[in-house]
Amino acid sequence: MIVNKEISKLKLYNTFSRKKEEFIPIDKKIVKMYTCGLTVYNFAHIGNLRTYIFEDILKRTLLYNGYKVKHIMNITDVGHLTSDADEGEDKIVLKAKKEKKSVWKIAEFYTKAFENDLKKLNIILPDFHKKATEHIHQMIDLVKILEKKGFTYFRNGNVYFDISKFPNYGKLAKLDLDKLRAGKRCEIDKAKKNPFDFVLWFTKSKFEDQEMKWESPWGRGYPGWHLECSAISMHYLGNHFDIHCGGIDHIAVHHTNEIAQSEAATGKKCVNFWMHGEFLIFKKEKMSKSKNEFLTLKTLQKKGFSPMVYRYFCLGAHYRQPLNFSYDVIENAKSAYDSLSNKILEIKANIQKSKIDKNFTKKIQNEFLAKINNDLNMPEALAVMWKVLRTTKIGCKEKYKLLLEFDKIFGLNFEKIDEIQKEKEEQFGERELVEKLVKERNEAREQKDWKRSDEIREKLEKLGVEIRDNSNGSTWKIKS
Ligand code: AMP
Ligand code: ZN
Repeated sequence: MIVNKEISKLKLYNTFSRKKEEFIPIDKKIVKMYTCGLTVYNFAHIGNLRTYIFEDILKRTLLYNGYKVKHIMNITDVGHLTSDADEGEDKIVLKAKKEKKSVWKIAEFYTKAFENDLKKLNIILPDFHKKATEHIHQMIDLVKILEKKGFTYFRNGNVYFDISKFPNYGKLAKLDLDKLRAGKRCEIDKAKKNPFDFVLWFTKSKFEDQEMKWESPWGRGYPGWHLECSAISMHYLGNHFDIHCGGIDHIAVHHTNEIAQSEAATGKKCVNFWMHGEFLIFKKEKMSKSKNEFLTLKTLQKKGFSPMVYRYFCLGAHYRQPLNFSYDVIENAKSAYDSLSNKILEIKANIQKSKIDKNFTKKIQNEFLAKINNDLNMPEALAVMWKVLRTTKIGCKEKYKLLLEFDKIFGLNFEKIDEIQKEKEEQFGERELVEKLVKERNEAREQKDWKRSDEIREKLEKLGVEIRDNSNGSTWKIKS
């Protein structure tokens, strides 16, 4: 579809202004976009993946609006400490110690796993995803510029960014520095002149055995976490680019520090649109890799929920709204996705049936565009899709064409729905096994064979299934 920009201008919420703004790219031909990648010391959890799905929808919307997109993402394989504010240990080093592997092996393993997850979720891969450790040179150059311009100081073996030299510090997060200074944000590093100063280059860390170290003008050491995103984004996208995104946890520290580094170095605004996805919440808390209990895409698959079901689940909430995860709610998403798949299969089976209503088609296309261009309103865009599925105004041939058009945004792989259906059946042996066991248990109960019934209950519990008995038999659900 050729988008008529006059019908519906693309508006995106800019965290910087706290407003929806019309999106106008710096260069008419190509949008330059940067997304913060994963810290590869563990599998991505489904909270991380929610953010990557939001960023994928954003990219697809830009493409739908006729723009070309240059998309860069980093891979954090060094320097991200257990606290975002320069405290604690390097997350990858910690994991390497725990697993008795080299840091490089850990980073390589989890980077591969992350790429697999992105592919399974049908996320369009960035043009480049760049490892922090392959850009040490650019990071050192950036620190040299900051040093030359007087934004740094060297204390206790580390190079710090001096926020007192950068008057706009904290604007993105609307930080009230005086108020925060009075409170306790973090255990303050005594070498810092100001608690909000941050490390650009460590030569002395608070822990031994940092395997990843490089020569630098300040001594052998390693970069502070925020440095990589400034250095990589500027290297590939230039000093001023269109969109920078991440999860909302990045607003207060990571992106705030990135702005300070990049803008202090160039003296110019670095990014036009800052966009942030809200959290996935699990058991009333932000899902987080540093907590023991987090769910991966694999965990969901094992419980019978395919990556496309998870994608559909995420589309059901606006990216700026927190999304609560539980097995009950994903079960609902699964039912809706199954019903959607069945409807599409039915439409495909009747593809020769045509009924044209140009007015309806035009109206629905414009409605869809208005929803996605209104700051990526996916729940309402899905509602437009359901309208198409239900209507009798157009035939299956016309419906299918519209659905494929909409799927350029949803990325639910409508075209391959038959294959997905087949794969699902092969992959989810566990669901079939559960259903078989429940049936056997019901039979045992009918025959009053309580011993057998209890044995089967135990087996089901080991599979993570909770079973409830009632007068009509038994129902089961996956334990949350
Ligand atoms: P990290 O590996 O911690 O750097 O996180 C990778 C991406 O996931 C970042 O954009 C984070 O902001 C985002 N993220 C982390 N936790 C969550 C969560 N619970 N829900 C949504 N996004 C998250
Ligand atoms: Zn980043």
